[in-house]
Amino acid sequence: MIKIVFLLNAVTLVRCVLPRCEPGNYFQGWCKVAVEPKPKCTDVVLGYCDDMSYSKTLFPNLLEHKTREEAELSTEYLLLSVIHSLLNGECNPDIRMLGCSVLAPRCDNGKIIKPCRSSCELVQKSCAHAFEGIDMAWPYFLDCDRFFVSEEEGCYDPLEGLREMQEMVMPSVSPEEPSTAIKFAYHSNTQMFNILKKTAAQCLHISRTYSIGRSVEGEDLLVIEFSSNPGAHELLEPEVRYIGNMHGNEVMGRELLIYLAQYLCSEYLLGNIRIQTLVNTTRIHILPSMNPDGYELASADMQSGSDTDYDEVAQPRANSIGRANAQNIDLNRNFPDLTSIFYNRRRFKRNRSDHIPIPTSYWFGKVAPESYAVMKWMRSIPFVISANLHGGDLVVSYPYDLSKHPLENMFSPTPDEQVFSKLARTYADARATMSNDDMSRCGGTFGDKGGIVNGAKWYSIAGGELRGHNCQFN
Ligand SMILES: [Zn+2]
Repeated sequence: MIKIVFLLNAVTLVRCVLPRCEPGNYFQGWCKVAVEPKPKCTDVVLGYCDDMSYSKTLFPNLLEHKTREEAELSTEYLLLSVIHSLLNGECNPDIRMLGCSVLAPRCDNGKIIKPCRSSCELVQKSCAHAFEGIDMAWPYFLDCDRFFVSEEEGCYDPLEGLREMQEMVMPSVSPEEPSTAIKFAYHSNTQMFNILKKTAAQCLHISRTYSIGRSVEGEDLLVIEFSSNPGAHELLEPEVRYIGNMHGNEVMGRELLIYLAQYLCSEYLLGNIRIQTLVNTTRIHILPSMNPDGYELASADMQSGSDTDYDEVAQPRANSIGRANAQNIDLNRNFPDLTSIFYNRRRFKRNRSDHIPIPTSYWFGKVAPESYAVMKWMRSIPFVISANLHGGDLVVSYPYDLSKHPLENMFSPTPDEQVFSKLARTYADARATMSNDDMSRCGGTFGDKGGIVNGAKWYSIAGGELRGHNCQFN
């Protein structure tokens, strides 16, 4: 109590000593006007922000941290220090630099220049998948509306430093010979989904991902699309479809399609004219895995080492574990058998080989969600050409797959035989190994046939395969 009284007395005393500044007193020099010191730009000394394109900042920053120490001890700065490992290296350094532009904003002539909203929105769009992947909300202090301003208000690009660095690296790539750096490794389902989403984000103006449905175990059947106008069918623009990993243990097609997606994106960005023309004149849909559940099974089986013949590499191989989906349905025997219907009606005049309706009896059988998703997909997009990548031999096999005489493997052409054999030949001829006629080479079974074969001549599938369904349905 005594202490408080004393303090109060002291305060009163001070107030008495200081002269009150009345108008007119300034001229007599009795009191001084409290002049706020002019704000001064200081060096950016935050360790995680030392690669920004500017060197001066100002406190308080945009988050009202008054000093560098306060900023350094803040939870926002702590987040920036771990964001790289949190997002598994994705979206970095973009996210960190965006954060730095708020925590240590650029300072010119004693004034803070705010970062551009457009840069923030771009990073947010392209990094949304990375945050989704770890179930984390977009950080509040990177709110594009709140802390960032428009070009008209005078802003700067917080990623300027990054772009300068990229430009220093870029000239080594010759525009005539663009090249894509691809890391060859097998991808888990999660890794595959991440890569596809990341690739679509990198090529936002020509790409998007979408799901056509879910597997039995609830995995997305994720498609990546490339087109000059993603998400829209344009009149006369051919729709192209690739499917891989329909048999879960056949992984080559799955990996090839993951690489194809990355290749299309990066070559487009690098200015490869051929790829740019391809993407601008067609709409390409890629489903790297139609059977993600089967893949998981095959992959787990391989890792458990139940088959000692496996390579050291984590590659599911030639036993049949994971071939079917999680309901043990072989997806390439699960489509409506429209080829048989076509054969049965052959003797009738004006029998159509296309747009044959799916018979009601088909729906009484077990239809896998994966097959159903692909059928729905075919109904929604008018595909004109498609490829389905399997594993097991080196050959382009084209329809029909069901022999005219079911018990015999015999050449069974579709009405479009010339188109199909030409397409198959074009594909095979473009690949040195495939068109190599040496029967003793690896995968040389079809060496003497130039690497192509009519499916039914190879071995007749008793119906329900996707390709037959394609031919008669579309
Ligand atoms: Zn297969």
